[in-house]
Amino acid sequence: MQKPPKKKEKCPHCEGKGLIKLGDRKVKCSRCGGSGFKPSGPKH
Ligand SMILES: [Zn+2]
Repeated sequence: MQKPPKKKEKCPHCEGKGLIKLGDRKVKCSRCGGSGFKPSGPKH
């Protein structure tokens, strides 16, 4: 059996990089936590 590929959505905040350019350095994206993908499922 083949599993359908999970469709991960890129984090629009960091454009899938997981890092945000802040000035001359990079910081971990706070939206996705550095994964580069939108967090799956509601977190609360
Ligand atoms: Zn992100």
